[in-house]
Amino acid sequence: MNSDRKIAKMICEVGRRLYKSGMVASNDGNISCRISKGRFMVTPTCVSKGFMRPKDLCILDKDGNYLKGGKPTSEAKMHVMILKARPDINSCVHAHPRCATAFTVTSTPFDPTVLPEAMLGLSAVRTAPYAAPSTLELAKNAADAALTTDVVLLSRHGAITLGCDPIDALYKLESLEHCAHTLIYAKLLGKSTELDPNEQEQLLTISKEVYH
Ligand SMILES: [Zn+2]
Repeated sequence: MNSDRKIAKMICEVGRRLYKSGMVASNDGNISCRISKGRFMVTPTCVSKGFMRPKDLCILDKDGNYLKGGKPTSEAKMHVMILKARPDINSCVHAHPRCATAFTVTSTPFDPTVLPEAMLGLSAVRTAPYAAPSTLELAKNAADAALTTDVVLLSRHGAITLGCDPIDALYKLESLEHCAHTLIYAKLLGKSTELDPNEQEQLLTISKEVYH
C-alpha cells in the first residue's frame, strides 16, 4: 500500500477516535501529517472528524499552498508552521479536550508532576497565549510553544499535540486529557502534592532510558 494512503487511513482513524472520545464536537478539530515529496496532508474544514473518508483529505505543498482534495481546515497554517519548525516530528492533532481546556480558561497551571505516568508520557506541557481561532497569530503562538514541547495547550481553545505519526500525537492528547481529568478530581478532593525532587529525577532518568 502506498504510504500516503496508509497515512490517509490513519488520519481518518484518529478522527474517529477523537470524535468518539468527545475531544471534538460537530466539525471541530484538525489533523495533519507529512507525506511524500515534502507535502502535507490535512483534514478538511466543515467535515466531522468522526466521519472522514481518505478522499476528503487535502494535500498542501511544502509551503502550505493548496494542491488538491477537499477545502483545507482553517487551522492549516498552524499545522504547517509547527511541522516546518519541528522537523523531528511528522504529525499534529488539534482538538478541544474539555478538562485540559478548562485549565486555560481558569488560568490554572497545568502540573503533571503529581502523576508519574503523566511525567513519563507528557514531560513539559506549555500554554500558548490566546489568539482567535484560524488566525496567523494563533499559528505563531502555537508554533513558538511547540519548539520546546510536544504538548501545547491553546489558551481558551484546546490543545495541539505532536508525534511521529497521527496515532502517536493522538496518544499524547489522550494522556493530556486523562491527566487533566485526574487533576480536576484531585482538586475536588483536596490539595494535590507534587512528587518530591528525587522521585521526579528518577522519572526523568526512566523517561530517557525507556522513551528515547
Ligand atoms: Zn480548534
